[in-house]
Amino acid sequence: MSTLTLERLNKTYGGNVQAVRGVDLDIADGELIVVVGPSGCGKSTLLRLIAGLEEISDGELCIDGQRVNDSEPAGRDIAMVFQNYALYPHMSVYDNMAYSLKNRRTPKEEIRRRVTETARLLAIDDLLERRPRQLSGGQRQRVAMGRAVVRQPKVFLFDEPLSNLDASLRVQMRQEIRRLQKRLGVTSVYVTHDQVEAMTLADRLVVMNGGRIEQIGTPMTLFNQP
Ligand code: ADP
Ligand code: ADP
Repeated sequence: MSTLTLERLNKTYGGNVQAVRGVDLDIADGELIVVVGPSGCGKSTLLRLIAGLEEISDGELCIDGQRVNDSEPAGRDIAMVFQNYALYPHMSVYDNMAYSLKNRRTPKEEIRRRVTETARLLAIDDLLERRPRQLSGGQRQRVAMGRAVVRQPKVFLFDEPLSNLDASLRVQMRQEIRRLQKRLGVTSVYVTHDQVEAMTLADRLVVMNGGRIEQIGTPMTLFNQP
């Protein structure tokens, strides 16, 4: 069964910029899709459409067979991880991770249990009392991941999450992201302009150009093409 279904998805900005054109995509339960392509090809727009941060101009977007075109971002059961971390600077790591659960009136004990478990999974359990400014770049990225994981969403969206990290940390984190994604089995769409990152992470690669899907396949099949 497909968790995410995109049918003839279109996004036009300001009446003339066609950022996403006729995108058809079925994403299986637990699959990790990586979207690659040159700057301006529509990668972020595609993610933002799925997240509900941009209005869909035309086409259908379904999660578990339910049309979600018109539902609010908060109602879509999706968590997004950005490159700039987007952590709340005045809150502790614990509170950053607990924030969305508190908003949804999750019982306090369950919040505590989920934050602690997630922190252990991401090896940030000794950082829970710190503020974001007291963390390294890699630690911040882990907290940003933790904040997404703790919600136990149906879908993860990653927008160039590692591009602020140095090269060796990037390699380490992408392996961890893949391990974590497989362990949790959360259907994921990951956007990057880094080809190696794309090849390493993806179950299936989507190559975009000019707002369209140009190629789609496993890293092996795309790599072995003439
Ligand atoms: P990518 O993430 O692949 O770099 P984007 O999705 O950011 O590409 O952009 C796709 C196209 O849409 C580009 O031509 C870009 O200039 C345009 N675009 C993106 N966001 C907006 C916006 N808010 N208003 C108008 N045009 C936009
Ligand atoms: P609040 O009363 O602010 O809603 P709690 O009573 O759950 O939240 O926790 C008080 C503070 O103690 C939190 O803001 C958090 O920083 C910290 N805290 C709570 N549980 C833990 C934990 N398991 N590990 C580390 N810090 C925690």
